[in-house]
Amino acid sequence: AAKRAGRGTSRFFESDMNEAANRTLLIQQALHEALDKGYFSLRFQPKFYGRDGALSGAEALLRLNHPTLGQLSPVEFISIAERNGQIVPIGYWVVGEACRQIRRWEAAGLTTTKVAINLSPRQLAQPDLLATIQDIVRAERMGPERIMFEITETAAMHDVRRMAEMVHAFQKSGFEVAIDDFGTGYSSLAYLQRFRVRQLKIDRFFVDGLDTHDNEGAAIVSAIIDLAHSLGMNVVAEGVETVSQREKLEALRCDQLQGYLLGVPLEPDAFAALLGKPGEGARHAAPVSA
Ligand code: C2E
Ligand code: MG
Ligand code: MG
Ligand code: MG
Repeated sequence: AAKRAGRGTSRFFESDMNEAANRTLLIQQALHEALDKGYFSLRFQPKFYGRDGALSGAEALLRLNHPTLGQLSPVEFISIAERNGQIVPIGYWVVGEACRQIRRWEAAGLTTTKVAINLSPRQLAQPDLLATIQDIVRAERMGPERIMFEITETAAMHDVRRMAEMVHAFQKSGFEVAIDDFGTGYSSLAYLQRFRVRQLKIDRFFVDGLDTHDNEGAAIVSAIIDLAHSLGMNVVAEGVETVSQREKLEALRCDQLQGYLLGVPLEPDAFAALLGKPGEGARHAAPVSA
């Protein structure tokens, strides 16, 4: 029990805790009904080649729009869905919906790009993950070469041998794989060669460092890019927000760029404006806003 002197503070603390617990419960409830009630949607954030600014792909980003809680951030609801396992069925919905969206763009006569889907640790722990994804993609009459998956460095390094096998199995099945948020997991760069992925996404923390830590910031990014290239990977910089970051990344021969400067996560119809017609080629990077 709280001592007399601390009672006031303790009460406040308790009510904060209750509020947080309440919100978690509300979000869990929202997650439970979200699939049936159609509260989920996908946004698509463009990626562009550094070389010529052409569209290089899209990342599917999940959104939850609840009638009373409003628009929820994945940063908040994915960690809750991770903890209680709801991320597993939700993640399968994301795969199906990405396929359906690719088909909708095609039906509109557009040349689509590869769509990247994020996979979190709980999903990666499913023994039948790849088989289930293959079933979904096949049922949506989509080829694996249209889809790629992003797994965070932290998830990849959690169990290097198992994850390396898994990545290998995905790639053998025709799905490209990228390592996401690279540099935040404090793993040895040497582990990278165990994965043999085609794409490495540098976390936006390091992209930030290009402006705030100037020389050292550039040295770190440069080292990551060179190492990735020497391992045969292409590099995507995440979270590019300023022209100076873009210029430095281009000078360091970063292959692809992604970030608010070039394009925010877009609704499917807005993303369609970036897609070319067959024979026309994809559109080039221009500032895009929501
Ligand atoms: P992520 O995969 O690293 O995605 C990048 C996040 O950074 C996205 O946030 C994106 O909107 C945001 N972002 C992009 N450009 C910029 C920029 O220039 N500046 C800043 N400050 N942020 C930028 P979002 O959509 O809130 O997603 C957050 C995280 O939630 C994702 O990080 C990913 O780990 C997870 N997530 C999102 N969708 C899914 C999904 O369908 N399944 C799973 N398992 N996780 C998902
Ligand atoms: Mg990602
Ligand atoms: Mg990322
Ligand atoms: Mg992230």
